[in-house]
Amino acid sequence: MSYDYDDQNVFAKILRGEIPNDTVLETAHSLAFNDISPQAPVHVLVIPKGPYVTYDHFSAEASDAEILDYTRAVQAVIEKLGVAPGGAGQGYRLLVNSGEAGVQEVPHLHTHVLGGRVLGRMLPG
Ligand code: AMP
Repeated sequence: MSYDYDDQNVFAKILRGEIPNDTVLETAHSLAFNDISPQAPVHVLVIPKGPYVTYDHFSAEASDAEILDYTRAVQAVIEKLGVAPGGAGQGYRLLVNSGEAGVQEVPHLHTHVLGGRVLGRMLPG
């Protein structure tokens, strides 16, 4: 499998500092920032700093250090925003849209961390 990364996507521009972002946290290999069009009271995007298009691309080709860092960055966002089950936020949803059928708009891997309200069923219909 080969993966084509478009370095003109909006998250690549954020990583290069060409456009601003509302940073929640940053680690060695990951960046988390608030979604520009939030769908819930908590809506954070967590991205790897490396040029990965999708979750399957990242999982196949990222280093162990990047994968560990990214997994822990998602956890750190959940903790920082207080949405873990049992806490005040009472739970969250992780969402990774991938490719055409997944309706991925930005071709740089991002995990949506959604919470702050009861989110409803996973998919409409
Ligand atoms: P997806 O459909 O999974 O590719 O989601 C892309 C997400 O990126 C959407 O929720 C957008 O609101 C969000 N987004 C697009 N541009 C920006 C930006 N400049 N800063 C923060 N979030 C953005």
